[in-house]
Amino acid sequence: MTPLSYSILFAILAAMANVLGGFIVTSHKWALRSLRYFIALGAGFMLGAIFLEMIPEGLAHGPANPTIFTMPMTLVLLGYFIVHAFEHTFASHLHFGEETHHDEVTDPVVGISAFVGMIVHTFFDGVAIGVSFMVNEKVGILVFLAVFLHKIPDGFTIASIVVTSGYSSAKALAAAGTLGVSTLAGVIMVHVFQGVAPYALPISAGSLLYVAATDLMPEVNREAGVKMAVVVFAGMGLFLLLKLVADV
Ligand SMILES: [Zn+2]
Ligand SMILES: [Zn+2]
Repeated sequence: MTPLSYSILFAILAAMANVLGGFIVTSHKWALRSLRYFIALGAGFMLGAIFLEMIPEGLAHGPANPTIFTMPMTLVLLGYFIVHAFEHTFASHLHFGEETHHDEVTDPVVGISAFVGMIVHTFFDGVAIGVSFMVNEKVGILVFLAVFLHKIPDGFTIASIVVTSGYSSAKALAAAGTLGVSTLAGVIMVHVFQGVAPYALPISAGSLLYVAATDLMPEVNREAGVKMAVVVFAGMGLFLLLKLVADV
């Protein structure tokens, strides 16, 4: 299999998790309760993947003869700010988890702007998967898992906001499905424009850093007590374990 077919296959799995997350909003109380553990585990795993895989690979495969604007760490910062700009500057109301601020989210425009923010974020989820498989299969699978573990919360979050802003459950599912399509578009983009790979890896590391540290961690921190911290740490440990196994 080629890096393209691998990354498309895994991006389809990630896209399906987006839809599954959207589906949880429409019913299933038990799934809602377990979602917070998914968010905590995913955040820990993602932070491990970002700092121990994506940033080191980004530094190793970055642009040749970089300036201050094209050095890998600048690109990591750029990725962080791109997702921040779309999720929290253009989108007036977007946070992860269940949408319960009904009085603030009655405007349909809120739903649409949150949707646009999430499309940009999920596009970079796809870029991360695509470019990591271009490095090698080991990096590809580890980064895919990091993306995959937060895909259900991605789908859940957008579907929850769409429903709260007054749209139907069918529209909420369609929104979650579109995030899946956007993920696939990210994968295909890096394979069509292979020259962007040295830039795409650190930029997508920065975008995932935003999602893990700024979207998911506050959601984790809403719950008091040591239990959530243990789950975050377990997520990080799981990444380390898989990396050690993969490096053998
Ligand atoms: Zn809210
Ligand atoms: Zn995502």
